[in-house]
Amino acid sequence: MALFVSTSERDTSERVVSPGMRGFVLWLLDRLSIPCVEEADDLYRLALPASQREHFENRPEVLFTFDAQRYDGAAKNDLEFAAPGHRLFRWLFEQSLSANVLHKMAPPQQPEHVSEISQRLFSAYTIDGGSVHLAGCTLEDRWVVRFVRSSANDANAELVIGPDGRELASELRHELGMDQLAEVATPDVAMDNVPAQNGKSEFGATPRSVSPQQLARIAEQIQLGIRRLVGPANEGAPGKEGSAQGHHDNDSITAIRDALQDIAEVQLIRTRWVSGKLRFTYRRQTVDAAFAGWARSLTAPEVECPRTGKLTRHLSTTDDERLAAAESIETCEKTGQRVLQGELEQCSISGTRCLPEYLGHCAVTNLPVMRETLVECPHCRQQISPASLSGAKCYGCRKLASVSKNDARLSLILTEYPKLDEWRRWRLSETEVNFIVTARRGFQRLMVVIEKETMQVGFLARAGWRPRWTAVESVEEQAEILGAWS
Ligand SMILES: [Zn+2]
Repeated sequence: MALFVSTSERDTSERVVSPGMRGFVLWLLDRLSIPCVEEADDLYRLALPASQREHFENRPEVLFTFDAQRYDGAAKNDLEFAAPGHRLFRWLFEQSLSANVLHKMAPPQQPEHVSEISQRLFSAYTIDGGSVHLAGCTLEDRWVVRFVRSSANDANAELVIGPDGRELASELRHELGMDQLAEVATPDVAMDNVPAQNGKSEFGATPRSVSPQQLARIAEQIQLGIRRLVGPANEGAPGKEGSAQGHHDNDSITAIRDALQDIAEVQLIRTRWVSGKLRFTYRRQTVDAAFAGWARSLTAPEVECPRTGKLTRHLSTTDDERLAAAESIETCEKTGQRVLQGELEQCSISGTRCLPEYLGHCAVTNLPVMRETLVECPHCRQQISPASLSGAKCYGCRKLASVSKNDARLSLILTEYPKLDEWRRWRLSETEVNFIVTARRGFQRLMVVIEKETMQVGFLARAGWRPRWTAVESVEEQAEILGAWS
């Protein structure tokens, strides 16, 4: 089990040992029955069992401190620094795990291999004509620290600190199977300083040990847990924490000692965290979906449709082979083509959903209408919905009303087409799309249909005494009537 390396570790960033962590280290030594005396302020002498001396250059005793400055000033191997990240701490942790002073536990039914994850995920999806695979998946250990108290009532019998340093809510404890924990065999967890593969498995490798990074995180969780156990007044107040370089007041030491005395058991619970990416493939198109969560309760995430952004677990393709959420694909009722939902429009008369090329727009309402349904107004010759036609006139032709030249709309038209000013007795109406104007000059009548948005003339017609309008189709004649375009 001599897995840690004894290189110089004085560059580590762990410089301050909190009062809680000092208490915890001394508590571990006490539970391990390793003799330890405080020789001077923050200088401790520890008697090593014979079997453990090889880890400290065969010395029978080890001097250690929690004071970074004192440690920095000492000669190499004369003094150990009892901070997380340093060899004395790791050794102590390893001893505590072996001797069951720290209990290693795990919930049942935790996936150990990526194949268990992929089976669960893949079955949640449908991809018509395509396939799904993992484009990356990492299963790793995330440790939960549980303090079991001896004198507490049921309500605060335990304190459970999650990997993020926060107390685990009871729902999450249940989700993670914390009510069915079992001891994990010792050899599964070893303390070492080799970062590769420790506790982390890529595509199915079995995790074996706690990595230095994981140990640092566990130490942080322990500190936060003790802070909660003793209360913020005694541990974690910034002033005390900041001045904790070897000097701490007796009140906080007593509070921490009491809190630690009350701890019946400290459990390290091995939970499995999984993260990765699913890749859905149809021919040369792919869609990725990232996932992350507790391996025990992971559910298949919804995939974002690359075309519409809709979330789905069913991917399909349009007739022109675009990969999209099945819910985003619709069939054109006119042609039977499978296209994206947003590419269809609905006829305002029949409700038929079809491609826009099969729809026109009513010149009165501007609503989409199937082309074959549109009718022509016999007067203004605009294509309109049958619903806009009444008494052989469209709504616009029916609503023509006298206007003076002061009418803002007529002014606009006369500015655009100055030659029209020669005409008199103006009548005007307005639809969603057009202005329709008529005028007289002697025996002649004139009708102009002008698109509101562009001020383009869509229809120009003349009439004499007879009611029927005759379209003016020659460009020269049109220019003569309308005048120069401004
Ligand atoms: Zn009309």
